Amino acid sequence: MPDSPSRPRAPGTVLPDAVQVAVVGAGPVGLQLAGELALRGIDCAVLEREPRIAQATRALVLHARTLEYFDMRGIAEPFVAAGHRYLHYPLGTARAEASFTTLDSSFAYALALPQHRTEALLQAYARGKGALLVRGAEVTGLLQEADGVVLTVRHAGQVRRIRAAYVAGCDGARGPVRRLAGIPASRSVYPYDVTSIDARLDLDSQQPWSRCARDGMALLLPFGDGRWRIILYDYRPRGTGGAPTGGLDQAETLLRRVSGRDLCLRDVQWISRYRCERVQAGPYRRHRVVLAGDAAHVHPPTGGQGLNTGIADAMSLGWRLASAAADPRHDGLLDAYAKERRQAAERVLRLTGALLHLNAAPSLWACAVRAVGLRTARLPLVRQRLAVALAGLPHVTRADNRLRSGQRVPDLLLRAAPGQGAPGRLFEALRSGHHVHLTPACGTPDPRAADLAHPLLTARSEACRRACVVRPDGHTL
Ligand SMILES: Cc1cc2nc3c(=O)[nH]c(=O)nc-3n(C[C@H](O)[C@H](O)[C@H](O)COP(=O)(O)OP(=O)(O)OC[C@H]3O[C@@H](n4cnc5c(N)ncnc54)[C@H](O)[C@@H]3O)c2cc1C
Repeated sequence: MPDSPSRPRAPGTVLPDAVQVAVVGAGPVGLQLAGELALRGIDCAVLEREPRIAQATRALVLHARTLEYFDMRGIAEPFVAAGHRYLHYPLGTARAEASFTTLDSSFAYALALPQHRTEALLQAYARGKGALLVRGAEVTGLLQEADGVVLTVRHAGQVRRIRAAYVAGCDGARGPVRRLAGIPASRSVYPYDVTSIDARLDLDSQQPWSRCARDGMALLLPFGDGRWRIILYDYRPRGTGGAPTGGLDQAETLLRRVSGRDLCLRDVQWISRYRCERVQAGPYRRHRVVLAGDAAHVHPPTGGQGLNTGIADAMSLGWRLASAAADPRHDGLLDAYAKERRQAAERVLRLTGALLHLNAAPSLWACAVRAVGLRTARLPLVRQRLAVALAGLPHVTRADNRLRSGQRVPDLLLRAAPGQGAPGRLFEALRSGHHVHLTPACGTPDPRAADLAHPLLTARSEACRRACVVRPDGHTL
């Protein structure tokens, strides 16, 4: 694999004829993936239809695992400095909540940060590493050949062809790559109307809040600057003031009835009524095309999982795609990516679907289930488990004898090398983008480390009872 030092690239205005990897879409997932590829010296181009980052907020929440990934690349600080911390995620009544403060992570919270700010920071990182980003470049065609892919791209009034060894479809839920590659997907729509509003609210607290009542459910998420995202589920039958006629007045009325408070929405920036969908691509890979992010899976926005799951895709795909692009013998790594991340998306689809039903289902039967569910969610163990699932840390474990392949490894303290000052951390060692061979103070090395075909660092840790190889995405090999 080329291991050249990365160099900053200016905004691209010229389309190259050929690259090792073409990333379609400069949303958060495409940008994160481009940073991962450029970190490893891969010649990649991000092709983005839009001329600039859209200012719509969309995703608001970054969870702990996403911040851990950023920490593994040394870029967590500006996100944390710009965001607003949530200590819990409320489920509908007092004390029924996921409490992030108990998470076994340096980031024991969720971070509110509008998606366009996340994209701006990731764009700066990818460019800083040397990725080429071409805006105003719309992919309209894709042809798979034996040893590469030819993309048709509309750019600056011209139609051009770009050749790439691999194409990553990070073009979101409505992008063309999945369809052009002939990858099927299952899709269904949930039968609930959801209203989402970004506006100012006069509330003292700056923490998330929610209530379930007879008429509906309200979830309030603060931006941290006086603005709030208000999400409303209306249980009233249509024609009695309920969905789907709602404008701002109707939303305000429902908010007052559910909250029991005289809340007024001011400076409304955005209001939207929609139905959530559930989409899962069949395979995440066909020949030389791989999918990541919303191009591969779409979840209901409950629990703020979409962007976070996509960043995890990009971390899992980045080192594997870089390896495959540099050496065809590593092509099989992409199958492992497709399998691992499809299973992860299944878990997220189940979680977000269950939360949506809990929030939105209006029937009497659903109300009874909700009442039981909310009582259960007050139990400390349930609050903790739910937080772990939402935070994207399902495999929290100390590096011990039970480590299995693909498990998250926490940010262990490393032993200082002789002659060096302070000990480092595992996530700091992963900033190189290499695998890390973790060994206990005494004990035998992981035998797989000797045969590894990827660049490898070795580090000692007292917290690690058995040697293991940690992948560049922070999971065990
Ligand atoms: C209202 C709302 C609230 C949400 N809240 C949350 C939340 O709190 N937390 C969370 O994690 N997620 C949330 N999400 C989901 C989140 O926004 C998405 O999961 C995330 O944007 C996916 O990132 P992506 O990079 O995969 O796709 P996108 O962000 O959709 O980016 C795809 C990019 O591809 C480009 N593109 C498309 N077609 C082409 C083409 N032909 N050629 C070139 N470029 C193309 C698009 O212009 C776009 O820039 C929310 C979504 C919505 C709509």
